[in-house]
Amino acid sequence: MTAVGDNWMFEKVALLGAGLIGSSLAWAIRARGLAGHVAAQSRSAESRATIAHLGFADSLHADPAAAVKDADLVIFCVPIGANAAVAAVAGPHISPGAIVTDVGSVKQAVIRDIGPCLPEGVEFIPGHPIAGTEHSGPEAGFGDLFEQRWCILTPVPGTPQAAVTKLTTFWERCGSTVTLMDAGHHDKVLAITSHLPHLIAYTIVGTAVDLEESTRAEVVKFSAGGFRDFTRIAGSDPVMWRDVFLNNRESVLEMLQRFSEDLTALQRAIRWGEGEVLEGLFRRTREIRRGVIDAHQAGSFDAREPERSGLGGSVPGTASPDEE
Ligand code: NAP
Repeated sequence: MTAVGDNWMFEKVALLGAGLIGSSLAWAIRARGLAGHVAAQSRSAESRATIAHLGFADSLHADPAAAVKDADLVIFCVPIGANAAVAAVAGPHISPGAIVTDVGSVKQAVIRDIGPCLPEGVEFIPGHPIAGTEHSGPEAGFGDLFEQRWCILTPVPGTPQAAVTKLTTFWERCGSTVTLMDAGHHDKVLAITSHLPHLIAYTIVGTAVDLEESTRAEVVKFSAGGFRDFTRIAGSDPVMWRDVFLNNRESVLEMLQRFSEDLTALQRAIRWGEGEVLEGLFRRTREIRRGVIDAHQAGSFDAREPERSGLGGSVPGTASPDEE
């Protein structure tokens, strides 16, 4: 049993994948008493040993089919590129009446990959918590990761309202504010707010790495400037981000095209000494930053390290609330 009480929202939650996001969900579910049983699935023996040691799951599985047995909530928490294979194994074993959701950073690809594998009578509601850190694996999770963060649900047309309401309540009880969105719109919005910033960070850090030896040493030495923040973002999980770009190709390329045009305009302003163009842009972007702070989306995790909050997890992680 996960916590004291018998008023579970769900009898059994199955987490397919239990890395940063899956383990954080497990901690949140246990701390808030949201389910009677948390089943965690992980493919590697090493991760399963870590999960057993951390103790956030009531049962532990290598096989996705065994994990989802009798679950009334199934949450896919694997990289986007792994969804199809995991769904093909787990899908036939999911009970009718269960709600199936996911946490993937891209939504149209998830609908394409998981949807066809689900049996009749299962409600599929894709989701995306806008919360994360640059750390990975079961030891990286902590139960208040989702506190004061958005969670976007992208139900397909025809999904019963009762199921959407139940999943909304689940995320709210994990500390998030839920908003509904069309999957295509989600992929466009996230392409500019999350995917492109990661691509830029990977590029800048990559460029610095390619500099000649003497300059590279000084890049690391003096990285206290803006570069340090880029290295944090560029330290994000390589597999997860490979899958994000491969599965949100069109939206990312569209945003990249617009970004390139704006960069060229800035290049021109610098070349021609157009200070008012630069200052005008920087003033507008400063306003945006203030808006982000006012919307409470710029805070750090410093005040809610897992050790202090008692919500589990062994590694608080560097503050990275804007990660996703
Ligand atoms: P993670 O810490 O790397 O954990 C990934 C989990 O998936 C692990 O349990 C891993 O199992 C399993 N896995 C990896 N590759 C697999 C494969 N090919 N087949 C089956 N299982 C596989 O990743 P995460 O950060 O939790 O991300 C999980 C999902 O959350 C992704 O879809 C990502 O888009 C989304 N997301 C991430 C963030 C973030 O900031 N990290 C934020 C919001 C949403 P083993 O450990 O046994 O290999």
